[in-house]
Amino acid sequence: MADYDPDNIFAKILREEIPCMRVYEDDETLAFMDIMPRVDGHLLVIPKTPCRNVLDATPEQLTAVIKTVQKMARAVKSAFDADGVTIQQFNEAAGGQEVFHLHFHVLPRHEGVSMRPPG
Ligand code: 5GP
Repeated sequence: MADYDPDNIFAKILREEIPCMRVYEDDETLAFMDIMPRVDGHLLVIPKTPCRNVLDATPEQLTAVIKTVQKMARAVKSAFDADGVTIQQFNEAAGGQEVFHLHFHVLPRHEGVSMRPPG
């Protein structure tokens, strides 16, 4: 397991060194809009404490993050009048992870509408 890099993009967002569109936060978690949304309303949920990914997470971090994921899933489903919600999560480069601070993607989905390609 590689170490946690304190200069990853989401660590900088947490330190407010780079901007983001914050939509929710509590003592343990932050939710903000993805900079390259794959559907309208695509947001990310992260813990405020250092954590590389699920493989490295404590039960407390996972509990806090999944509670916020559920809040955000319900919120975007309602706000975007969506038919459903996709929740995605990637671990290590081979697993599709690009930013090495634990995060969950929350994507409101509409029947018949595909996700845009990444990038
Ligand atoms: P993953 O690591 O799960 O493959 O993807 C990382 C996600 O972070 C991507 O969806 C990407 O668009 C998003 N992302 C990368 N850099 C930034 C940034 O500076 N700000 C925000 N808001 N999202 C970012």
